[in-house]
Amino acid sequence: MATNPKCPKLNVEDSEKKQRILEITAPLRLPDETVKKVMDTLDSEMDLAMNKDPQKRKQSSCLCENTYVRALCDGTEDGDYLALDLGGTNFRVIHLQMKKGLITRDYCKEVRIPEETLCGPSKDVYEYIADSICVFLEEENLKGKKLPLGFTFSFPMTQKGLKSGILITWTKSFRCKDGVGDDAGAALEAAMAKREELKDVELAAILNDTTGTIMAGAYADHKCYIGVILGTGCNASYLEHIENIDKWNLPVEEPKEVVIDIEWGAFGDNGCIDFIKTDYDREVDKYSNHVGSFTFEKYFAGMYMGETVRLILLHLTREGLIFNGKVSETLGTRNSLTTTHATKIEKDNKEGKSERTLKVIEEMGLKGEATEFDISVVKYVCEVISIRAGQLVGGALAALCNRMKRPEVTVAVDGSLYQYHPRLHDFLMQNIEKFAPETKVKLILVDDGSGKGAGLVAAVVDRLAKHGK
Ligand code: BGC
Ligand code: MG
Repeated sequence: MATNPKCPKLNVEDSEKKQRILEITAPLRLPDETVKKVMDTLDSEMDLAMNKDPQKRKQSSCLCENTYVRALCDGTEDGDYLALDLGGTNFRVIHLQMKKGLITRDYCKEVRIPEETLCGPSKDVYEYIADSICVFLEEENLKGKKLPLGFTFSFPMTQKGLKSGILITWTKSFRCKDGVGDDAGAALEAAMAKREELKDVELAAILNDTTGTIMAGAYADHKCYIGVILGTGCNASYLEHIENIDKWNLPVEEPKEVVIDIEWGAFGDNGCIDFIKTDYDREVDKYSNHVGSFTFEKYFAGMYMGETVRLILLHLTREGLIFNGKVSETLGTRNSLTTTHATKIEKDNKEGKSERTLKVIEEMGLKGEATEFDISVVKYVCEVISIRAGQLVGGALAALCNRMKRPEVTVAVDGSLYQYHPRLHDFLMQNIEKFAPETKVKLILVDDGSGKGAGLVAAVVDRLAKHGK
């Protein structure tokens, strides 16, 4: 089988150990034809998700949901808006001020949601959000101002309209036992209604973070047709022509396009990409919050990348290939090696250094055991997993571009993994260029796009209400 030219390298002298390590990690190094197979599978899963027949749609592991977002900024938005961003590592409250279509103030406050609140009941989550808005209005002197609110809710939902989103399942670190089947927009409105201080805040739209990202991207670049989150989880939205969406049978009236939320984090939940699954991926899933689901994002997203690296290192250590065969307590502990650690090691790989890797090894309680060989292996494992991430997400984006058939596409990306991983951007680009050669693709970081985008959606809704277009 042909291997990818961007194949990771294990820079140590030839030895039996080296051969064994290459053998163990071989299933994680995807040849081009495997990436192509993943791309083709995604394409057919999307077709299935947009099929006329509801029975067929059920078989797809993607959702391809209507977001009801059909208009982008046109340069006339004016006013003060509030945005919320819930779903990743932190919860954010944002004040957006617009004058003649330009953002004149964009202030964001991060709030950490307590662990126990993440466990539910879901009512507590919405109450916590409402309380945080109260504090924010007070701090920012916004009390008494009319504030349309855009609510980024980064979970899969069935939207019934711009303000209504029925939660399909919690994901990532949210472990509430209830809330599924509820309308998250209505639940937030109910929590806000209890607070006199929030009487001037009015929910304008509920949206997925990828939709927010596409909005924020389109504000910066008119060729932005795709929004991607590469953070704790992963997903993408894109602008689709109404006539390509079989399942809705909508009249093709102006506007002729709509943002579709693919929900590709769950791509593969029906087993369709099990041909790339390794024992490490199976173990990551087994001990995750939502077992048996969110297959695609578990291969690489921020919540899982570090753990995958740890499981591989643990296996290599148990076989006596590294660290003198000694499993430290930390190395043996789930989630002790985080994605932040992995991105630090990748920084070493980028710069040809080892200092950060050594620090991570020290934190893992293995400094005493580590030889030059071990350090190289640790760096190699992080590289293997990072390149695989680039192949899977880059391939998925290429598949999307090939589907869209636009000559030029700007992809707006937000999320901690993309932001802090020093080489992921390059790995993504290499794969997009290779697998979507017909499209000129640009990846742009939209910092806090998912939150800012919610404010922009609120502004557009407000504009449409005031001016009808
Ligand atoms: C959720 C998506 C979200 C993505 C990125 C996934 O777990 O299902 O709705 O867009 O994470 O935050
Ligand atoms: Mg986010």
